[in-house]
Amino acid sequence: MKVIYIAGSGRTGSTLLSLLLSQRHPVANLGQIRDLAAAVRTNAPCSCGSSVPDCPFWGIALASLYGDSVQTGLDQLSKGLRVFRRQYRKADWTRQSDRTRLAEQNRDFLQRMSALYHAAAKAVDASVVVDSSKSPEIAAALSLTGDLDLVLVNLVRDPRAIAVSWVKRNDDFGMARKSAERWRKRQLELRQFDNIPGIEFITLRYEDFTRQPQKYLELILEHAGEAGSFPQPIAAKQYEISWRRQHLFPPANEKILSAMPSETTIIPSDGWRHRRHWRERLVATYTTFPLSLKYGYGLF
Ligand SMILES: [Zn+2]
Repeated sequence: MKVIYIAGSGRTGSTLLSLLLSQRHPVANLGQIRDLAAAVRTNAPCSCGSSVPDCPFWGIALASLYGDSVQTGLDQLSKGLRVFRRQYRKADWTRQSDRTRLAEQNRDFLQRMSALYHAAAKAVDASVVVDSSKSPEIAAALSLTGDLDLVLVNLVRDPRAIAVSWVKRNDDFGMARKSAERWRKRQLELRQFDNIPGIEFITLRYEDFTRQPQKYLELILEHAGEAGSFPQPIAAKQYEISWRRQHLFPPANEKILSAMPSETTIIPSDGWRHRRHWRERLVATYTTFPLSLKYGYGLF
């Protein structure tokens, strides 16, 4: 079974990308698995209209796995992830010996992870699932399960755009530096996944995706062996979105979840270039230089 895992920073369009990749059988969208335990615990709303615990998709998938002890099962998984994350942070991910040791030390947790993805895929009869959790350590865990093929999409966006987006969203100028620092750390980490055996690694710039969405949707799905599942645009860069097979929950993109648009036109969001945002751009450039230049992002 294949997992298309979208990694990178928040505010990069990952929810929209996951929606477009999963419009056709046998590709299914799992949303952000990282947040599933919290969604069940808080009775979060699912995009199908139910709450996540009562949702026909998540309800069936989780009951098939954990029976009447769904919360306990997910809590054990979260605990395993915390232990794994600690060990992963200490390890040198580029070394085969460290990866082998991580796999051996976390065998039980990795089996539980694999079982969750398989149960979710079975509940919707999918052979490819999309997870937009974004955290690198979950990608690391998936690649170590031994029975999941990982297509890792490093979705990267200009850190200046992300900084402006976070400052606006939280109405807090401090988010410019915080988000840029997170961007830098995450990209340094994700670059270590390139050339790891068993992982198909694709770096996708948000800016390139918005310019030629069809090209990159096809590229990713081809890597997942699903050339027959391409979404078809209804006009240039315009797509219908069916929500019939979608079961997304917060914190997936809040605007998309509340609007649940039936179609979308992919256009680059360029408001961050306005001259009033010069301070956020300056902070983001200062914080991410020179790494941002490697992705072709400018200085100011
Ligand atoms: Zn649902």
